[in-house]
Amino acid sequence: MHRILTSLALIAGVAASGTASLAQTAAPEISLTRIDCGTSAPAADVGRFSDVFAHQGLVLPLVYSCYLIRHGDDYMLWDSGQSMSAGALAPKTSVVDQLAQLSVKPEQVRFVGISHYHPDHTGQAAAFPQATLLIGKGDWDVLTSPKPPANVNPAPLAHWIGGGGKVEPVPLDKDVFDDGTVIMLATPGHTPGHHSVLIKLRQAGNVLVTGDAAHFHENYDSNGVPPFNTGRAESLASLDRIKKIAANTKATVIIQHDPRDVAKLPALPAAAK
Ligand SMILES: [Zn+2]
Repeated sequence: MHRILTSLALIAGVAASGTASLAQTAAPEISLTRIDCGTSAPAADVGRFSDVFAHQGLVLPLVYSCYLIRHGDDYMLWDSGQSMSAGALAPKTSVVDQLAQLSVKPEQVRFVGISHYHPDHTGQAAAFPQATLLIGKGDWDVLTSPKPPANVNPAPLAHWIGGGGKVEPVPLDKDVFDDGTVIMLATPGHTPGHHSVLIKLRQAGNVLVTGDAAHFHENYDSNGVPPFNTGRAESLASLDRIKKIAANTKATVIIQHDPRDVAKLPALPAAAK
């Protein structure tokens, strides 16, 4: 009996290792690179980001971040930052020129994922007209409404709004490459269709990039809701969801606007893998 069990264990072991090596050869390389997407204004009072006056007098600079996600031969750009015509807030180097430092051409970017419709996240999307635009359905509905609110600027996405490019409005979560490695997470509240993104890296582990579900550490820790968010209850529920996902998947949380989170990823041209 003992010998039979040993043989079964051996067979199971062979089968398991065979499966593992197959998976390894088939698995695409995943990497994550931060792209600088704006020049931050001088440090300022960030009290306006809390509707319960939690951070009166707290002074912080905020940064603008986009991310290039590699999935095998495909690339996804997460957010497209300030426009190059955004004056003092424009980045020193365009997203396209930063991708060139990585030898990635715009036409290799298969998806442009947008966390939400604010202009500091959509500014350079038009440089990737061949990409499929992935954006929360709630935000898409606002962008394509007859009279979008004043803080919603549809211009950078006009190519897709006008029907010139492929767009996929995302109502809930989206498993971008259908293998669980890159998942857009529905985290509404900052805007109606706001999304965050979870990237599963093999060596560096899971990374959850928040979009603007929070703007800086103190607001994230205190469940802060800016008064200009479109939904207070949704904002709180989204922060709760992000924290639980981060705990359950042991993810590193990166708040896109917080300068203290920039160094959580290696600097361009290096990538987290
Ligand atoms: Zn923002």
